[in-house]
Amino acid sequence: MAKVMIYKRLTLRCWKCKKTYSHYEEVDAEKKLKVTCPHCGAEAVVDFAPYRKEKKIVMRSASSGKKTVISYDLPETLETNEF
Ligand SMILES: [Zn+2]
Repeated sequence: MAKVMIYKRLTLRCWKCKKTYSHYEEVDAEKKLKVTCPHCGAEAVVDFAPYRKEKKIVMRSASSGKKTVISYDLPETLETNEF
C-alpha cells in the first residue's frame, strides 16, 4: 500500500513550560514526533496514534477493491510528553 504523507501545521504545548509553539511536521502514527521547545529548550515527544482514524472505502470499480484511508483528527493544541 502506498504511503500517503500527511503534513500539518501543528500547535504544540510544551509539557514543561506550558507555552505553545507551532511546528510544521509530518503526521505519522507509526513514529513519535520529537520536538524541542523554542521557549525553554525541553525535548518532547508527540504521539499521533490516539488521533489516527482509519476509514475503509469501497471503490467503484471491482478491480481496485477496498481502500484504506488514514486521517488524523487532531485537536487545535496538541499536548507533548516528556522525552
Ligand atoms: Zn517549553
